[in-house]
Amino acid sequence: MDFTNGSNTSSNDENPRPLNITICGAGIGGLSAAIFLRQQGHSITLLEQSRFTDELGAAVHLAPNANGLLRRMGLIPEAQGAVKALKLSAWLPHGKEMFSMDLEASAVRWQHPWQLVHRVSLHSELKRMATSEEGKGKPAVLRLRARVMDVDPKEGVVTLDGGETIQSDLIVGADGVHSKTRMQIPGAQNIKVFGSGKSAYRFLIPRQRAFDEPETRKFADKEGHIIMVMGRDRRLVVYPASDSTLLNFVCIHPTSESQIQSEESGSGDWQNQGKLDKLLEVYKEFEPAVLKLLSMADEDTLKVWELLDMEQLPTWTEGKLVLIGDAAHPFTPHQGQGAGQAIEDAASLAVMFPSNARLDTMSDRLKLYEKCRYERASAIQEYSRISGKDLGSGPPFDGSKFTDYNFGHDEWNYS
Ligand code: FAD
Repeated sequence: MDFTNGSNTSSNDENPRPLNITICGAGIGGLSAAIFLRQQGHSITLLEQSRFTDELGAAVHLAPNANGLLRRMGLIPEAQGAVKALKLSAWLPHGKEMFSMDLEASAVRWQHPWQLVHRVSLHSELKRMATSEEGKGKPAVLRLRARVMDVDPKEGVVTLDGGETIQSDLIVGADGVHSKTRMQIPGAQNIKVFGSGKSAYRFLIPRQRAFDEPETRKFADKEGHIIMVMGRDRRLVVYPASDSTLLNFVCIHPTSESQIQSEESGSGDWQNQGKLDKLLEVYKEFEPAVLKLLSMADEDTLKVWELLDMEQLPTWTEGKLVLIGDAAHPFTPHQGQGAGQAIEDAASLAVMFPSNARLDTMSDRLKLYEKCRYERASAIQEYSRISGKDLGSGPPFDGSKFTDYNFGHDEWNYS
């Protein structure tokens, strides 16, 4: 690949000008891309459909792979209340331990800690870093209530819902699982997002509340403890967040037993209100301590969301358009890698576009980005799917075929 000539210069001796890059979607992927690309010297416009007045989410995992990249970016997760994961335990529904792992030992091997952070804290800090005067490069321009309706990959034009058009050298589609920009990738029109068969209740409670009750203390008495309670076709994952003051719950269960109606399947709404009696019904076979713990959920903030999946796209790039994060590869949450893979995409894309990147090398650079990311993200996505399958269904989980894709996890056996 020849990256030496370009058309963003008027003569061969002149330095190329920075690129005008429009990023569609300011979630964790879009904001990370804005930071990494501004650090390379480019001019960034971020378009976000929402108003960010009520940013949502419970906690997300920052496994060592994502953690290292955030630190390189300049974001220190512990300053945002991230909690170091020290131990992972898997228990059966009646409380017996299946296995446990020392995550601190893994972190030494993987060079960075595994941390648990509130999505809202991470998102706020990424937003600050993308748009602040501090830091390397020019601040990104963040436009809220700017819904992208269409993109023209050949011309580099983004159209907003009011009809306004924005001309760009490069368009980054970071608009999540229901991506509009993805529709301009050849072959994407035939690829549908579908329900994975599972849904998840998620909520947070004060950790102290679980600690104060003798019956539920075991869920809150060790620092940095991730606990999975594993039924055959349903599980719950409990872990601390926000300087260990909160406990985060992800309660994964069959969608057929969820309160999500079949006509809503595939919508993947983050805002669906959960009902406490339904949650308790789903876990009624679990030991009383689990039910007592779940009954501490505050119904006003209980959410239920369907876990979505999608077949692989044939490619992530077309003309001046490139996809990152969930727009390219929606993740099931079973390995806590949705945010991590979006951050890896963002970092890789920026590596392909140093400040002296010439426009006529764009296509080769985008192909190289895809080459670096496609196989890895697809393999980790598959790992996540397999590790989320029902206990005892199919052959035992063999993590060894994924060892080339180190993402800060040791192998464990769910079968
Ligand atoms: P997303 O995080 O989905 O971000 C996409 C962004 O694009 C959103 O801000 C969206 O408003 C914007 N957008 C979409 N369409 C358009 C458009 N047409 N024009 C302009 N902007 C558009 N993961 C967890 O593990 N735990 C959680 O609790 C959790 N909560 C979440 C809450 C919300 C509201 C969202 C959006 C995501 C949540 N996730 C959560 C998912 C997780 O953040 C993502 O899976 C992962 O970080 C990949 O990020 P992404 O940037 O690719 O996509």
